[in-house]
Amino acid sequence: MRGGHKEGWMDDRIFLSAPDASGDELRYIEQAIADNWIGPLGPYVEQFERQLEDIVGVRRALALSSGTAAIHLALEVLGVKRGDLVLASSFTFVGSVAPLRLVGAEPWFVDSDSQSWNMDPELLATAVEDALAQGRRPAAAIVVDIVGQSADYDPIRDICAEHGIPIIEDAAEALGATYKDQPVGGFGRIGILSFNGNKILTTSTGGAFLSDDEDLVEQAFFLATQARDPAPHYEHSQTGFNYRMSSLLAAFGRAQLETLDERVTSRRAIFETYQAALGELNGLTFMPEASYGRSNRWLTAALIDSSTFGATNAQVMNVLAQHNIESRPLWKPMHMQPVFAGAMSTTSGVSERLFDRGLCLPSSSSLTPDQQDRVIEVVKGLARS
Ligand SMILES: *Cc1c(COP(=O)(O)O)cnc(C)c1O
Repeated sequence: MRGGHKEGWMDDRIFLSAPDASGDELRYIEQAIADNWIGPLGPYVEQFERQLEDIVGVRRALALSSGTAAIHLALEVLGVKRGDLVLASSFTFVGSVAPLRLVGAEPWFVDSDSQSWNMDPELLATAVEDALAQGRRPAAAIVVDIVGQSADYDPIRDICAEHGIPIIEDAAEALGATYKDQPVGGFGRIGILSFNGNKILTTSTGGAFLSDDEDLVEQAFFLATQARDPAPHYEHSQTGFNYRMSSLLAAFGRAQLETLDERVTSRRAIFETYQAALGELNGLTFMPEASYGRSNRWLTAALIDSSTFGATNAQVMNVLAQHNIESRPLWKPMHMQPVFAGAMSTTSGVSERLFDRGLCLPSSSSLTPDQQDRVIEVVKGLARS
């Protein structure tokens, strides 16, 4: 018995985004144990990092304990400090921006456009102008690739470059997606990835810091390993963090990375199946794919207009839950979060509408056709015919 539910409940359950360890994970972990590479160093971590560099096309990758840790290190090595202003996508998960509090910086949230659901470049330009008019040059911009889809980097990079604002690309949800045929993760001065349990690939928990700038990566490594000065004893002239990835998790992650193309193919196929089955229902629209890139379709996301669909997104989620099916709303924008009350923002109403109407359907790469049919039948059954 798990969670007090009747026997069989968990077997029957359909998860939103379950880890998928159907590759060589166990074999690689056994090998790491056999070789006694258990700590946060050694060939498994290094191989995992080299694999990431190949996949993303960046010079250096650093394997870390989480994506949130990677964002924190990015802010540290860019020298973002107390009182600094940092532009950030409002429509995101809190891990993108919570580390701003660790360095004492202030967010300035920028809303999404309705086509890509990512940071709207025109609103970014307005936010930069407004910040400059207040005599404050933003110290960085955290640009998120949301729900598997890349942001529009050409205009975003132009705006940031004009004002010398370094970009941190938060590609936590989008590994395997592309922008103009280039893999996501390498469009900022620094990119970050997450290997949390519900992401397209996982190391149970984990993350990565990516950059073409060797100096930044060296600084991030130094801070991620307790800021040890070069000396035979433990010598510290500043304090750091303990943010490195365990070797066992890196061994697991190597097997995960080998499956990335398959995972993207399965998640995209799951999306197509939902779209074919539910796309004609009144009041239900799927997340658009921007013309500039290919989404990894990490989660199948849809918007429900209750006036034409006949039920709200919350009602759909409740009925799915009664059928032992996990679903979620879309992210509540950061400019609406109590913890960021009073923060500056440039908004258009788009992300509020996404939150209001959003629904994420089960999208695990291990989802079976029978399971997907179960989800489809429940959603269809709720639509006004
Ligand atoms: C998951 C996620 C993170 C945080 O990653 P963790 O590895 O869970 O710390 C950051 N940003 C976005 C957009 C995410 O979805």
